[in-house]
Amino acid sequence: MLQFYIITIFPKVFEPILNESIIKRAQEKGLVKINLYNLRDFSLDKHKKVDDRPFGGGPGMVMKPEPIFRAVEHIKHRAKIILLSPRGEKLNQKIAKELSKERQLILICGHYEGVDERVKKIIDREISIGDYVLTGGEIPAMVLVDAVTRLVPGVLGDEDSLSQESFEENLLEYPHYTRPAVFKGMKVPEVLISGNHQRIAKWRQEKALKHTKAKRPDLLKKNRLNIPTI
Ligand code: SAM
Repeated sequence: MLQFYIITIFPKVFEPILNESIIKRAQEKGLVKINLYNLRDFSLDKHKKVDDRPFGGGPGMVMKPEPIFRAVEHIKHRAKIILLSPRGEKLNQKIAKELSKERQLILICGHYEGVDERVKKIIDREISIGDYVLTGGEIPAMVLVDAVTRLVPGVLGDEDSLSQESFEENLLEYPHYTRPAVFKGMKVPEVLISGNHQRIAKWRQEKALKHTKAKRPDLLKKNRLNIPTI
């Protein structure tokens, strides 16, 4: 089982993702567990304050180190500790896969101007979900929980679907179609209803390559498969 321990000042915002769909079922199956910790419960301040003004002046507030250290010490010592931060390494499928092999992950959600730099002392990884700044680490933590959970063995019904997804082998996935075969005059590519699995596989690979070349040529450079470019 993979246990997530999320340290946040807004534990309630996680409820929608915990109680729906695949993440809900993954928890029911005992494959993942999401534990929420309200950072304010670890504040020594009588007003449960978790932030303070920055030394050196400047705008905004900074999250104090003590409540974060106390929360982490309270949780577990063997867990990998992740700080969500726009200054971190950018989350990708490879990182999500690495994290899905862990047993315990502590996720620290920042707010305001971010956390006191001394928190870095206890951090194993600093992860960003992209080159933009959000108001808090809760949405990034949800993104990480979702991306990692679906890679935990047994969470998705059909493990095959994982091996064909976007970013596997550094390719974007091929296009999908379902019924009806003709919709508003738009026809499903003939090959997909041909029943010829070899042709279908070839068509899908070509489309995956074409889409990747058009939209994410950077991925192709990393591609380890020796697929001839179209
Ligand atoms: N002052 C910080 C800076 O310029 O790097 C931004 C702090 S941001 C307003 C507050 C918190 O939101 C951060 O501490 C982090 O936890 C979270 N956050 C914002 N953008 C993020 C991103 N792209 N990836 C991960 N976490 C992010």
